[in-house]
Amino acid sequence: MRGFFDTKIEFLKGVGPQKSALLNKELNIFTFGDLIQHYPFRYEDRTKFFKIGDLHEGLPNVQIRGTLKHLETVGSGRKKRLAAQLSDETGSVELVWFKGIKWVQKKLQSGAEYVAFGKPSRYGRKINIAHPELEVFTPGHQQEGYLQPVYHTSEKLKARFLDSRAIGKLQKQLLTQALPKIAESLPVYLIDRLALMSKRQAVQHIHFPKDQSHLQKARWRLKFEELFYVQLRLLKLKLARVDKFPSRPFQETSFIHEFYHHHLPFELTNAQKKVIKEIYRDLRSGNQMNRLLQGDVGSGKTVVAFICMLTVIGGGSQAALMAPTEILAEQHYRGLKEYADKLGLTIAILTGSTKKSVRRDLHQELEEGSLHILIGTHALLEDPVQFKSLGLAVIDEQHRFGVAQRAKLWSKNRDFYPHVLVMTATPIPRTLAMTLYGDLDVSVIDELPPGRKPIETVHRYDSNRLKVFGFMKDQIKQGRQIYIVYPLIEESEKMDLKHLQDGYESILRAFPQVPVSIVHGKMKSADKDYEMQRFVRAETKIMVATTVIEVGVNVPNASVMIIENAERFGLAQLHQLRGRVGRGADQSYCILMTDYKISKEGRTRIQTMVRTNNGFEIADVDLKLRGPGDLMGTQQSGVLDLLISDLSQDGKLLQVARQEAQSVLQDDPQLMTPENENIRRQVALQPKSNINWSRIS
Ligand code: ADP
Ligand code: MG
Repeated sequence: MRGFFDTKIEFLKGVGPQKSALLNKELNIFTFGDLIQHYPFRYEDRTKFFKIGDLHEGLPNVQIRGTLKHLETVGSGRKKRLAAQLSDETGSVELVWFKGIKWVQKKLQSGAEYVAFGKPSRYGRKINIAHPELEVFTPGHQQEGYLQPVYHTSEKLKARFLDSRAIGKLQKQLLTQALPKIAESLPVYLIDRLALMSKRQAVQHIHFPKDQSHLQKARWRLKFEELFYVQLRLLKLKLARVDKFPSRPFQETSFIHEFYHHHLPFELTNAQKKVIKEIYRDLRSGNQMNRLLQGDVGSGKTVVAFICMLTVIGGGSQAALMAPTEILAEQHYRGLKEYADKLGLTIAILTGSTKKSVRRDLHQELEEGSLHILIGTHALLEDPVQFKSLGLAVIDEQHRFGVAQRAKLWSKNRDFYPHVLVMTATPIPRTLAMTLYGDLDVSVIDELPPGRKPIETVHRYDSNRLKVFGFMKDQIKQGRQIYIVYPLIEESEKMDLKHLQDGYESILRAFPQVPVSIVHGKMKSADKDYEMQRFVRAETKIMVATTVIEVGVNVPNASVMIIENAERFGLAQLHQLRGRVGRGADQSYCILMTDYKISKEGRTRIQTMVRTNNGFEIADVDLKLRGPGDLMGTQQSGVLDLLISDLSQDGKLLQVARQEAQSVLQDDPQLMTPENENIRRQVALQPKSNINWSRIS
């Protein structure tokens, strides 16, 4: 059966080599199967017709019906075009074509009744429709509830007459042959229990729905199937991993007791205790831990990581912590050194700027095992860095690291697989986490340390800048420090740097008595660090910066975050930036500055920030605004190549699919029973992913 669906698309009647090359290139359609899976992305209710006399340029795409007249070419050379009038009892409108004139002209018939579909625009004093979709009127057009599928296409395809409607025609033709050959791809017991449409029916109604209710059922069925197989694949890997990757069990607790009872400067939150327990269970188990630790900015992930390192060190192994930037690595190093010193443990830092001689000693201490903890940037991954016995690798702010880099950490221990803890402050919505990290265990710190006052967030227009300056003066008088952040993106780097510089100068003018720091990515790393350090030591009161300060920087005395051109930042970034304040005991503020003119989406982002401090709520809005493909770190994952499901909409369905996949695997882990034959066949058909999911954190 598969043979038929693998037939090259050029063998479909009406396609041929030229169109097939374009379909390959533009839509990734190579085979019959690919075309069938090119589902419509929306449907239009084509039962309603606009009166031609009511048309105006403000309307979106409209459908009209009328008699075609005066078909003729006008103008010459580059201005040559084909024009016609379409008239009903209320008026007439001009239809025009600039391309493919000959072909259109040959097909159209003056005097016949047509249905036209397109966007009215104004040309001089008249309304016209350029390149409308046109079809001879048939009684079928008035059939109740008729939904016209709309397919993605491209300008190049349209120029070859493969517009949405033409693709629909190809589908219709292909489906007459294909439908009888479509085999059921879910087990019958699932179809019965969940009252799903059959695969064959679903494919038919997704392309040519009989009515809304059939369309909904078809969608539900195809989405369920898609999500079910994604989850099945991830869960199977998870099972496989538990079997295949043993690690050394760690259960030593004497360091922890000493640290916890004598040195820890605060009480752990319940959420911190809970995740520490979850991590311990993994470390003790004898199987490799692959755990994602999610926790909002400031929730106290670092100390959790440290406490976990203590078990491993107590058991005679070493621990490493990898951070995305030097600034962050240094901050971790300074913070953790304080703890480590108290316990008599050795700790070192390794970054790109570590001197050769220091590096050489460090490599030796690592190999001998006299160095317990190594903090660093991706410099940790370089080949000369070899541990005597790496027991735990912690990765902070995971989204900055590539998949391959993470996998490399695994090779740092030749005797057993090191445990891996990935920490992220990017609040990934549950639905997405389940898909992206479906094979990882997830722990969540869902509570902030006590005594933190929620950050107050406001939106101010640029015209109110003087008031904002007044507020800043007041805060500085009270001893606080302030961040001012400017956007900087590659495409507009020059302009952005200029804005930053202008902003810096205007701050110097407005605050002549106040020491001010400036930090941006184009500075030398030594200069950057110097300025950073001055701010950390409170020698400077205002820090003007780009997003280099986004991740991890911890200055508890800084209580005001001002974000310039806030509309240009994404929600995740705004949330990260805001998280730089609110770390001390004082009331903190976040001021989002914008022009009066901002896009609707920009406004939604600002309003969301003003409304809530909850990272997960923000992540959900973000997902809805941007769609999952754009979320940080998800692009290269491959799991998100979903045909029909939309993780921002289909969270509930995803949960159902995951539960079902779980229970199927529970009853039949190897998928050997006759009832699961359909699953077995489908799994065998799935292309082997070139990412080895079990081997990446
Ligand atoms: P993040 O999760 O963003 O990495 P950090 O680990 O940097 O957060 O912690 C933020 C601050 O909160 C640090 O100064 C840390 O010492 C402090 N902290 C962590 N846990 C607690 C706690 N249970 N009680 C009080 N302060 C805490
Ligand atoms: Mg952190």
